[in-house]
Amino acid sequence: MISPNPSGGAVLRPLDVLRTDDVNSVITLFGHYLSEEFERTKEWPDGTPVGATLFTTVMEVEGDVIGFASVDVALNAVELVYVAPAYRRRGIASAVLGEWRRQCPRALCAKAPVSPTGRRLMDSLGIPEAPRSAEDLTEIERAHTEAYAYVAAQCGHKRGHPGRPCKRCCQKHLERASVSAVMMYVNAVRAGKLALT
Ligand SMILES: [Zn+2]
Repeated sequence: MISPNPSGGAVLRPLDVLRTDDVNSVITLFGHYLSEEFERTKEWPDGTPVGATLFTTVMEVEGDVIGFASVDVALNAVELVYVAPAYRRRGIASAVLGEWRRQCPRALCAKAPVSPTGRRLMDSLGIPEAPRSAEDLTEIERAHTEAYAYVAAQCGHKRGHPGRPCKRCCQKHLERASVSAVMMYVNAVRAGKLALT
């Protein structure tokens, strides 16, 4: 049977860093991802929508970007998939992964750790979880320690400690982190310092 909405009603296309709308949407959605993940795990979230070795797809419904997904093309590993809550359970994320699989003959895997929702999605598509390399884990650990130390130094609420600062300030810093992570990449591409993946 052919589904009338093979992509859950979404248009899938590459992120266009020259489009302000695209960039702003990804910043907002990435901010929501960070906030949701931090609430869920109480840990600094991993994964990024954009990067030098990442290819980024955006999902659009009626002209609005409602999700993004990034894949590390060097490792053929899913980096991060995010769909806004109102658009989940329509098969949009599966459609993106299916599209990537069609475009690349190499077997797709997903970078660990995968969220419980992501795990169900990957399992349904038979995409295995790939452990992070030792270098990746060291880098993640370093980034977490640095972020926590920064937040602890800024916090005026006298809660938490340097290794686990106050939640309110973590959330505030995550909002800023979503802007800086995306804009650092966008500005580098726009300045011609980074080639598009
Ligand atoms: Zn605080």
